[in-house]
Amino acid sequence: MTPQAMTHQGWKLVLFGPPGAGKGTQAQLLKEHLQVAHVSSGDLFRHHLSNGTELGELARGYMNQGILVPDDVTIGMVLDRIGPMSPDEGFLLDGFPRNVKQAQALNDALAESDRRIDRVIHIKVADAELIRRLSNRYICRVCQKPFAGDAATGAVPARCDDCPDGGDIYQRADDTAAAVANRIAVYHQETAPVLDFYQAHGLLSDIAGEGPVESVNQAALASLQPNLAKAFRPAAF
Ligand code: AMP
Repeated sequence: MTPQAMTHQGWKLVLFGPPGAGKGTQAQLLKEHLQVAHVSSGDLFRHHLSNGTELGELARGYMNQGILVPDDVTIGMVLDRIGPMSPDEGFLLDGFPRNVKQAQALNDALAESDRRIDRVIHIKVADAELIRRLSNRYICRVCQKPFAGDAATGAVPARCDDCPDGGDIYQRADDTAAAVANRIAVYHQETAPVLDFYQAHGLLSDIAGEGPVESVNQAALASLQPNLAKAFRPAAF
């Protein structure tokens, strides 16, 4: 484990940003570096979908349209995942919370076990770039690694190069043009207000998300300087 990982051991983080900001890619890098669990609400829903569970069937229609799954279902699903973790265990939330009610529910649930969010990393990307990225995004069905179609030919690899069995690569049903437009609109209307919630608690770090993956990762790590996070953390949060 690197010294930086040790500094942040046990941290509870939120990776925040619009769809297509690169949260999934950054989460993969951060979770290894910081030794925290990656908890993606979208991946949890997709897991339910591919297992044909009742929750998955309920979520399917909302997801395909690019709108939020109702809070009672979503909050319960995410809290079921992080609730049983030991207080010392770190996690990186990705895609949750997505509205102020979810942020408040998360806050309340963590407080019950004397836990709290340590920092929120907000990856900022302009809408035009989000649309460009999402319409050219493909995902490994097994490990969820994202791939982009070739810039010149649009060709997409058939199999994932990261999975032992080479998971097949597909385009998400909600990466179609209509669903993408909805998801970006929902982000501005319902999700962006969560930024004010965390800003008010002194937990927010904004980073630019349009550069190369490695520079975004460096910016994310730099935003986790311990003096910042611990100094601004209000006792009640
Ligand atoms: P994502 O993979 O994060 O883009 O999520 C895919 C879809 O899952 C979203 O468009 C929503 O339909 C649903 N979803 C994921 N996270 C949440 C959440 N926190 N609240 C409500 N719906 C969510």
